[in-house]
Amino acid sequence: MSAKIVCVGRNYVEHVKELNNEMPSEPVYFMKPFSSVSDEIVLPGYSPMHYEGEICFLIGDTLKVGFGFDFTLREIQSKLKKKGLPWERAKAFKGAVVFSDFVDFENIERLGLEVYKNGKLVQKGDVSLMIYKPEFLFEDIEIIFGLNAGDVVMTGTPNGVGLVEKGDVFEGRILENGKILVSKKWKVK
Ligand code: ZN
Repeated sequence: MSAKIVCVGRNYVEHVKELNNEMPSEPVYFMKPFSSVSDEIVLPGYSPMHYEGEICFLIGDTLKVGFGFDFTLREIQSKLKKKGLPWERAKAFKGAVVFSDFVDFENIERLGLEVYKNGKLVQKGDVSLMIYKPEFLFEDIEIIFGLNAGDVVMTGTPNGVGLVEKGDVFEGRILENGKILVSKKWKVK
């Protein structure tokens, strides 16, 4: 039971701008416990929840890729940020992550993601748009936190984040060279 989920914040320029955040001079990391992983998208009920679709990597003998939502309680996060307090209440709550299956891929440089909300494309991004590329992140995370089999790295979200509402249907896709490698659909409970 040593696995962890390391998340990267502010890794796409357009998303940094949409939240009026400062451009990072080094990667912004935070973690989610595995207790925050859910099979279904469930609203917490006490604060609005935003979706952030992300390209995720599962560390192991072979590196695998999957789609993940880094769910965020944005109002709570904004308050915590202003006060300089930790983000767990906004990022590590029950149901704060869902993942697709993790699958093999060939070329890490050619991976991308798409998020559909009720059939409409709301987020689109790929590795070429990342400020810090996956290979750099793996080395950096290994130095700081250690990176072991079973760990997951969530590489940040492109622009287009927004509200999750009851009854919404979300689909997350991971693409390689524009072709779908893995996808998953959820209906919000
Ligand atoms: Zn995120």
